[in-house]
Amino acid sequence: AGMRVAVVGAGVSGLTATKCCLDEGLEPTCFEQSQDIGGLWRYTEHIEAGRPSLYPSVISNSSKEMSAFSDFPYPEDFPVFLPNARLLDYLRRYAEHFGLRERIKLGTTVVSIRKRPDFATTGQWNVVTEADGKQTSHVFDAVMVCSGNFSEPSLPLHCFPGIERFQGQYFHSRQYKHPDVFQGKRVLVVGMGNSGVDIAVEASHVAAKVTISTSRGAWLLGRVFEHGYPWDMVFNTRLASLIRNNLPGPLSRGLINYTVNQRFNHENYGLQPEKSCLVREPVLNDDLPSYILTGRITIKPGVKEFKENSVVFHNCPEEEPIDIVVFCTGYNVSFPFLEESVVKVENKHASLYKYVFPTHLQKPTLAVLGLIRPLGGIMPVTEMQARWVTRVFKGRRANGSPPVCQNAAQIGHVPPPRGIPGDPRWLLYMDTLASYIGAKPSVLGLLCRDPWLALTIFFGPCSPYQYRLGGPGRWEGARQAILTQWDRLLKPTKTRVPAGSSSSFPSLLTVLGFLLLLAVVIFGF
Ligand code: FAD
Ligand code: NAP
Repeated sequence: AGMRVAVVGAGVSGLTATKCCLDEGLEPTCFEQSQDIGGLWRYTEHIEAGRPSLYPSVISNSSKEMSAFSDFPYPEDFPVFLPNARLLDYLRRYAEHFGLRERIKLGTTVVSIRKRPDFATTGQWNVVTEADGKQTSHVFDAVMVCSGNFSEPSLPLHCFPGIERFQGQYFHSRQYKHPDVFQGKRVLVVGMGNSGVDIAVEASHVAAKVTISTSRGAWLLGRVFEHGYPWDMVFNTRLASLIRNNLPGPLSRGLINYTVNQRFNHENYGLQPEKSCLVREPVLNDDLPSYILTGRITIKPGVKEFKENSVVFHNCPEEEPIDIVVFCTGYNVSFPFLEESVVKVENKHASLYKYVFPTHLQKPTLAVLGLIRPLGGIMPVTEMQARWVTRVFKGRRANGSPPVCQNAAQIGHVPPPRGIPGDPRWLLYMDTLASYIGAKPSVLGLLCRDPWLALTIFFGPCSPYQYRLGGPGRWEGARQAILTQWDRLLKPTKTRVPAGSSSSFPSLLTVLGFLLLLAVVIFGF
C-alpha cells in the first residue's frame, strides 16, 4: 500500500493536496471539519469557527486564467473574475473530475497532530480527529496542513487608544455580511487591505459618510488593467518578471511606481504607500478612485485615538464624528492542532522552508500549504507546493534534490524564509518549486521545437498550464490550454461581436516585448 497521508482541510489547498497525493500513488485521507468542501469559497450566512467568512459580494481578485489548477482550466463561459459561488462551483467540478470526494471525511475536525515516539526513524504522526463528539486516533506516514489562514481575526484594540470609551458600534471585517448596517451612518473603515476597500465601497452606497484610515497606504490596481485586460495577466509575464527582478532596486521600484500610477497618481488620492510597503499586497478595486473623486469616500492617515463619538487621526487636528467602525485589520495565523515546536508562528509569520516545510524536523513528513500570499491567484501556487511536497514525501526528487533537511545536522543551515505578502517574485517562487520536480518550462528549449508556444510563454501571462508541459504530472492538454487562454478570457465578454479565434493582444505584446528586450540588451542590463 502507498504512504498514508492526512490532509487537514478541504479548501483550495486541501483539494489539490488530495489530488496530488493520488497522482503520486499516495493514500490521502482529507479531514474537513465543516459539512462541505470549498473552504473560504463556500459562502454561508452563518459564521463558522475555524473557517473563513465571506460577505456575499466577494469576487475573486485574480482572473480565472491565473486562478486555475494547472491541469483544469475554468469552463470558457465563466466570467473573467469569479463571484464566490462560481469559484466554489469550479472547486466542486475539480473534486468531481479527479474523484476526490471519496477521500474526504466531512464533519471531521483534526484536533491534534503529534510525532510518534519513533518519529526519528519512521517520520510518522499520530493524528486525532473528532466527529460527532467522538475522538479517533490514526497513524499517518505524512501530513499536509491545509487549514487556511483567514479565519482568526486580528483585532489589535490596544493599538487604538480610547476605543473603550467609543460609544458607537465596532466590529471586525470577518463579521461583515451586508451593507444595511451602515444605512445613514458615518462609517470609519480601519485598514486598507482588500477587505477594507471592498467594505468601504459597499458602505458608501447607503452610508451618510465613509472614511478609510490607512497608516501605510497601498497600491490600488483595477481588475480592469491596461487595455482592459485583467491586471494579473498583464503583470505576471515572464518578460515583466525578468525585467523587474534584474533591474537595480531603485529602477525596478521606479518601473513599478510608473506602472501603478498610470491610471491615477496615488499621491493625489492620498493612497501612496510607504516606501517599506512596496512589496505589500496590492489592493484590487475598480471603484475606489472614482469614489474618492466624487467625495463618497475620504482617505485619512492612521488612527491616533477614539473619543466618545469621534476619531482623531495622526497629523490631523480636527476630530471626525463617527457612528460605526469596521476594523479590517486582517488575520492571525495559527495551528491549534500542532505543537509550537513543530510550527512556530511569530508576528504573523511561520518559519517554514519555502513557506512549506518546518526547518527542524528529522524527517520532512509534514508540510504546510497555502501559507503564502502570492501576487495573483493562490490555486497554482498551492498546487505547485502540493506537487513538490508529495514528491518529497515519496523521497523521489527529479532534477536534483530539493534542499529539504533529511537530518537534524543539516537543519541549522536552512535560512527561514521571509514571508512577504504580495511578493512580486511570485514567478521565481513558482519556477523554483517547479525546478525541484522537473516541471519548469524551458523557454529556450521550446524555441526550436515549438517557437509559437515559447513566445506565448515568455511574452504572455505565466498561466498555470505552463507547469504541465513536461515532468511528472505532464498534461496532454497543457499546450492547447496555453494557446487558447485568450479565447477563454474573451468568451464571456466579447458577446456582441462573434469572438474570433484569438485576440490581437498576444501578438501586440510579442512585438512590444521584442522591442523591450532589444532595448534591455542594447543598454547592457
Ligand atoms: P481555506 O479556504 O480557508 O480552507 C481551509 C479549510 O480547512 C476550511 O474548509 C476549514 O473548515 C478547514 N479546517 C481548518 N481547520 C481544520 C481542522 N482542524 N480540521 C479539519 N478541517 C479544518 N485568493 C485568490 O487566489 N484569489 C482571490 O481572489 C482571493 N480572494 C480572497 C478573498 C477573501 C475575502 C479572502 C479572505 C481570501 C481570498 N483569497 C484569494 C485567499 C484565499 O485564502 C484562497 O483563495 C483560498 O481560499 C485558500 O484556500 P485554503 O484551502 O488554503 O484555505
Ligand atoms: P490584510 O490584507 O491583512 O489587511 C489588513 C490591514 O489592516 C493592513 O493592511 C493594515 O492597513 C491594517 N492593520 C493591520 N494591523 C493594524 C494595526 N495594528 N493598526 C492599524 N491598522 C492595522 O487583510 P484583509 O484586507 O482582510 O485581506 C485578507 C486577505 O483576503 C488578503 O489576501 C486579501 O487579498 C484577501 N481579500 C480578497 C478580496 C477579494 O476581493 N477577492 C476581498 C477581501 C480580502 P493599513 O496599513 O492600511 O493601515
